[in-house]
Amino acid sequence: MKSILSAPINIIKADIGTDINSPRRYNLLRRKIVSLMALVTLIPLLSLAGLNYYEHQNTMAAEIQAPLRALVGKAKHSFELFLAERTSAVSFIASAYSFDELSDDANLQRIFQVMRREFTGFVDLGLIDVAGNQLSYAGPYDLKGRNYTEQPWFHQVQFKGTYVSDVFLGFRKFPHVVIAVRHTTESGRSWILRATLDTMHFDRIISAMGLEPGSDAFLVNRSGILQTESRRYGKVLDILPFDLPSTGFESNVQSIRDQKGQDNFIASAFIANTDFALVAVKPKPTAFSTWYTVRLDLLFIFVSSVILIFLAVYRVTSLLISRLQESDEQRMGAIHQMEHSQKLSSIGRLAAGVAHEINNPLAIINEKAGLMRDIMNLRPDFPDKDKFGRQIEAILRSVDRCRGITHRMLSFAKRMDVKIEVLDVNTVLVETLGFLEREAQYRNVELKRELAHNLPQIPTDHGQIQQVFLNILNNALAAVPDGGQIVIRSWDESEDFIGVSVQDNGCGMSEETAKNMFEPFFTTKKEKGTGLGMSITYGIVKRLGGEIQVKTKLNEGTTMTILLPKRSVEG
Ligand code: ADP
Ligand code: MG
Repeated sequence: MKSILSAPINIIKADIGTDINSPRRYNLLRRKIVSLMALVTLIPLLSLAGLNYYEHQNTMAAEIQAPLRALVGKAKHSFELFLAERTSAVSFIASAYSFDELSDDANLQRIFQVMRREFTGFVDLGLIDVAGNQLSYAGPYDLKGRNYTEQPWFHQVQFKGTYVSDVFLGFRKFPHVVIAVRHTTESGRSWILRATLDTMHFDRIISAMGLEPGSDAFLVNRSGILQTESRRYGKVLDILPFDLPSTGFESNVQSIRDQKGQDNFIASAFIANTDFALVAVKPKPTAFSTWYTVRLDLLFIFVSSVILIFLAVYRVTSLLISRLQESDEQRMGAIHQMEHSQKLSSIGRLAAGVAHEINNPLAIINEKAGLMRDIMNLRPDFPDKDKFGRQIEAILRSVDRCRGITHRMLSFAKRMDVKIEVLDVNTVLVETLGFLEREAQYRNVELKRELAHNLPQIPTDHGQIQQVFLNILNNALAAVPDGGQIVIRSWDESEDFIGVSVQDNGCGMSEETAKNMFEPFFTTKKEKGTGLGMSITYGIVKRLGGEIQVKTKLNEGTTMTILLPKRSVEG
């Protein structure tokens, strides 16, 4: 009952489903706007999030890499210092003592004792001549008399002057390195001083790096053989299971995937004057653990903002579109109404003219036919009197019928002054029903009244409202079969309107008929109908400030509903 307040033509249109403002058009528009707005808002968000992600990851990586690089740099320095000290000590002894002093075992033993006291890590000390013979030896092994000419390190020291060996397992299966120094006197005599170092100190330097759990550090030589024990890649002299990344003397960091498929940051640097590189390994997952949680948070924020934006865009667009649709519909309704009333007024004028023109000849026909009948009646010997009498009666009946039509055309056309008086609509309804009761009774049609007792009186025009009721009731009566039912209702609709409805269980209307029923001269009743009833009704109801609505279904019936204003309106 609520939608009744919008334009009646519209309601009919909606009821019978021929909508020109197709919903598909609005859906398309909605889709377009939503995708455009989503695109415009999401693209900057997406690029910002991407940039942020990338930058943050880079910063994180840099922040992880810098300490690792510094750590390796520092430890490398400790190694270099350690080895340089030891090498200078050996070098010093080689040059501070004469060949004779060094070749004397007791002397060498004494020097070795002093050296051990000053420098930790030395295991033994020995003198070797240019021919490679061990001349004297201080230490735990019995190496005296050995010859080293065949050994590669011997050639290296001859050639380079100092030499630090790779780690090897000595006779006691402890890892060692050898430091050898060649000394040449001014007279051209050369000898080689060779000391063995325990690599325990290497492990100490590495553990002093203070590695986090999961991280690893070790020394490895150029051939990839571990020189100290690694937590993850094996014992001393095992082969490193992956290739060492390119390494220089400056500590640098690279990403590498090890043999187990784990991603690591690797910092490495060569230790000066040796074959060793110091390597520190930090697994990426531990390094990035904070980053991963941050990333998850970021993802969450990103996804929820995308959803939020999308929802907001969708809501706003839907709202806009439905407003647009509403206003479009209102506009269409107004246009239809205007068209309709314009048509009514021009047809009205035409009808008035035609009715007027026809009334005169009709009067003449009526008069002449009457005259003919009188003349005939005056002459008792008139031949075929009965036959003529019937024809004249037919003429007079038709004239009557024509008069009825012209009369209605005139009343349709007349812009009658509205005489407003406050009256009870129920009374008018009962009065109007009185005109039809005889026919209803004759055809056994039930006229059922469901009238509201508390119906307020309204200011309206008695004659016009009666005509409205009469037109609607006449149509209902024409629609129902003999024995049908018509229900007449009245009720208090709202603060502003009262409602009256006439429901019949008659033939109903097709979509086409319902669409056209308010058009002047539209009728489905052939010569029995004028097609003016509903257009007159429509005009009156509008003039009185009311609304009219039709609900109908073919072969089931029709309900005509009128809303009439409680307060009088202008015009
Ligand atoms: P008329 O009654 O002279 O045909 P109207 O303007 O009163 O003209 O009605 C127009 C048309 O609307 C009718 O011819 C009929 O087809 C249809 N109509 C109106 N009211 C009803 C109704 N209650 N049941 C079925 N059809 C109706
Ligand atoms: Mg009618």
